[in-house]
Amino acid sequence: MNMMAFEFGDHLVVVDCGITFPDAELLGVDIIIPDITYLRENKSRIRAILLTHGHEDHIGALPYVLDEIDAPVYGTPFTLALVRAKLEEHGLADVVQLREMLPNQPFELGPFHVEFIHLTHSIIESGALALTTPVGTIIHTGDFKFDPTPTDGRVSDLHTLADYGRKGVLALFSDSTNVERPGITPSEQAVRERFAEIMAEGKGRVLISCFSTSMHRLQVVADLAQQHRRRLCFIGRSMFQNSELAQRMGRLHIPDGLLMQPQDIRRMPARNVAIVLTGSQGEPMAALSRVALQSHKFVWVEPGDDVVISARIIPGNEKAIFRMMDHLYRRGAHVHYQDGSQPPVHVSGHASSEELKLMLNLIRPKYFIPIHGEYRQLFRHLEIAQQMALSSETYLMESGDVLELDGQGAQRKQRVKVGRVCIDVGSYDEVGDVILKERRHISEDGIVIPILAINEHTGQLEAEPQIVSRGFIALEQAQELMESARQVILTTIQKSNVEEVGDWGVIKEKIRTSLRRHFDQETGKRPMVLPVVLEV
Ligand SMILES: [Zn+2]
Ligand SMILES: [Zn+2]
Repeated sequence: MNMMAFEFGDHLVVVDCGITFPDAELLGVDIIIPDITYLRENKSRIRAILLTHGHEDHIGALPYVLDEIDAPVYGTPFTLALVRAKLEEHGLADVVQLREMLPNQPFELGPFHVEFIHLTHSIIESGALALTTPVGTIIHTGDFKFDPTPTDGRVSDLHTLADYGRKGVLALFSDSTNVERPGITPSEQAVRERFAEIMAEGKGRVLISCFSTSMHRLQVVADLAQQHRRRLCFIGRSMFQNSELAQRMGRLHIPDGLLMQPQDIRRMPARNVAIVLTGSQGEPMAALSRVALQSHKFVWVEPGDDVVISARIIPGNEKAIFRMMDHLYRRGAHVHYQDGSQPPVHVSGHASSEELKLMLNLIRPKYFIPIHGEYRQLFRHLEIAQQMALSSETYLMESGDVLELDGQGAQRKQRVKVGRVCIDVGSYDEVGDVILKERRHISEDGIVIPILAINEHTGQLEAEPQIVSRGFIALEQAQELMESARQVILTTIQKSNVEEVGDWGVIKEKIRTSLRRHFDQETGKRPMVLPVVLEV
């Protein structure tokens, strides 16, 4: 859910606009976007949204934010291509201005002189932003690692970083994700050795699951498939779309005749097949989960097949991923995942501590603010900066904190409102706290719906109350309990006067209260009780 605002005078630029994914406890919530109250209140001052790269946690909220905020969006060609596809799905592609931002081609945005500095990351065309203002330069690193051998040959632009450092940088905002890891993060090429081994030795199909935006990874797989005489197939909607897009842009190179259609997999000898598919996080509807459950139209696994999960296990997804792995093993596949074995099947896209030190050393900022990480990671990143004795002043800032920099110094200002907004993608609707509470309530104790037919003239019940329940209690025990519940309803009505029974709001509330007390006494559970009154 990365998003940051930089302001000078009457001008505001936003850096990144990401989403995050919900925990299992947020029932029926698909994604979470940032609360943009502050941007809404400062709408007229927003000059641009600048994107550091195309990962979901940096661009995912754009369709929702651009629905309300009118500002041009700047990004590298590949980032913008991902954004365009997203906006098209939301019918916003024609109304939003997308502007290309290229390395070493600075431009002006009001008082901001903006330069995009290419850095390596797990996604291509990623980078840092240098925002130069009349009081100094700010550098925001985005997500990065210093990969000396990226698959596209575009190494990090250390020279430009150093140039800024030499000229003097007011403040550095730097990625803290992997601060706890010692040393240097391996190159994207590090997976090549293990992939090659699997492709060479595997007697059956090789299925590799990774994020569909990982062009480095897709390129490695394509190269190796060619070498090991395996035809290649992309499976999963986003995998198919993003690989097409990257090929069209010349950012993914696939030799002629290597690719095959999903329906052709059946006709190929298993040892001549390599498949790249979505679903590395065990998402139930994604390709790999369906393959694991033998419910995919074109892909299946059988003894002798190798499955590689080339991604990090994102915390919260463990159960789903491990369950999927179990299914794959049960069908006889051999599963390779990030279990610490070497060479690795996955490498991180974020800088480890030695690379973070290099970044600090290149920039030598006056003020240092760690970003992108949990509190402990920000804290440890601060410690690193302090140990380096760079004479940088350090600030630990959390979401909503405001820092003001001027010619004199830095000062914390009053916090602004931040938070999360839950989105139900099926309906594009915001899911409020109340709804979440209700969903949790129903999921824990179930729901009981008493149905009453009341004669509006006499205030009398026209029929025995009916009770429907779901997720509350097993049917065998239900008979007796429902009978007693019916008695409770009748008693409640008897004890109420005609006005009360005639006022449906009142009688519903009385029935709800007495039934809840009754169920609590009898079962210790507190189902949601939702009386329905039929007018007869
Ligand atoms: Zn990223
Ligand atoms: Zn990120």
